Amino acid sequence: MAVREMDILIKERRESIFCNHKSKHDNFQCDKESVSGTVSQRACVYCGARVVLNPITDAYHIVHGPIGCASYTWDIRGSLSSGEEVYRNSFSTDLREIDVIFGGEKKLAAAIDEIYTKFKPPVIFVYCTCIVGVIGDDVEEVCRKAEKRYGIRVIPVKSPGFAGHKSMGYKAACNALIDLMGELKDRDASVNSKKTINYLGDFNMSGEVWILKNYLEQMGVEIVSTITGDAKCEDLKKAPKAALNVVQCAGSMTYLAKRMEEKYGIPFMKISFFGVEDTKLSLLNIANFFNDEKMVEKAEKLIFDNEGMVNSELEYYRARLKGKKAAIYVGGGFKAISLIKQFRDLGIDTVVVGTQTGKKEDYDVIREITEEGTIILDDANPYELEKFMKEKGADILVGGVKERPLAYKLGVAFCDHNHERKHPLCGFIGAVNFAKEVDYSINSNVWNIIKRERGGHYGKELCEYECESM
Ligand code: SF4
Repeated sequence: MAVREMDILIKERRESIFCNHKSKHDNFQCDKESVSGTVSQRACVYCGARVVLNPITDAYHIVHGPIGCASYTWDIRGSLSSGEEVYRNSFSTDLREIDVIFGGEKKLAAAIDEIYTKFKPPVIFVYCTCIVGVIGDDVEEVCRKAEKRYGIRVIPVKSPGFAGHKSMGYKAACNALIDLMGELKDRDASVNSKKTINYLGDFNMSGEVWILKNYLEQMGVEIVSTITGDAKCEDLKKAPKAALNVVQCAGSMTYLAKRMEEKYGIPFMKISFFGVEDTKLSLLNIANFFNDEKMVEKAEKLIFDNEGMVNSELEYYRARLKGKKAAIYVGGGFKAISLIKQFRDLGIDTVVVGTQTGKKEDYDVIREITEEGTIILDDANPYELEKFMKEKGADILVGGVKERPLAYKLGVAFCDHNHERKHPLCGFIGAVNFAKEVDYSINSNVWNIIKRERGGHYGKELCEYECESM
């Protein structure tokens, strides 16, 4: 069912907003360029590449461009490290007007020289930003020469901001990772009999990788490389020898998993460790892949013990949250799907759901698991999010750093499920942390005070209050 014509401010957005109706299959549009002028919530190509590669803890990241690009993405995520902290620095060639006129290649070569002389890095990633794409610096050639000069890997990341949207940045980062992994010389059949995996698409926010490592170790699974949370360059180079790739953030890493399947013959499976339901399913799927009865038994025991531990706490939050309504706006489809299930487990109905980079197959699942009347939208803008949250009476918005002010200005609770989250939200412990955070935010007394002060929940009343008080 299309949303009413009058609900849509920009007519080009009509096909990307859908009011769920099970029996109708409209031509829903996603994974397309943003419509010019809509103030999309999406980040640029370079930003997409940076968020994927930055958590590699011992790599050096040179942003070839104006200083603003580097500062925009500096310390962009709460990815934690068990060793090196160098990734927390941001290096930039700080291109100025004169470099735009005469080219920035010399400056880039000088930046690589300086970093090599001072730090002797194992790997340098060089990000191309908008202006580099415009002036046409031959970044590949500069990197090639530096590799010869120093005998280290210097890898260009082709990510001019204007060359698409965040998804293309993910792709550029995945291509850079394949470049780092290189050719596989000695993968033989014995690799497949080992219980080894690469864990793709977890960026170790608040130590989430470590929670999953612990579960998998208990099952007897060895992680060769985490991509890219808490990753080290040497481990990434060993990734082609794993028996299986498991993909948590499908939006950013399915492309890499497919390329590794083609190039190294590693099969992959999509999993999700957000919410009790998906965590259980994912652990069992991994154990079943290895066709090992003992491993399945270990997984079942782990699930039994952990579920038992968190159930009573989750019951407490279910009683406090039942009947509330949620809006979701996150980066990828896999996370939106897990969040819908998590909310359902807490008795919360999802009334608005959208993503920045979801694919058609993600939206098919979202349509399947949400109720009729749920607004589903791709690449939303603040106007649309505000409009549908008000119309559907959402009590909480789950999103990232750009959505937080939108929720608070509307007087709606907010849960950060992105860059700045302070608690791990994956696995069994993460399910409790999530329920707790949602409860703290939805049931905070601050909303009662705002309602009293402003004479309403949000929306019209808030608008009138603000107009009157000006
Ligand atoms: S859009 Fe271009 S200028 Fe802006 S941060 Fe991205 S790469 Fe830099």
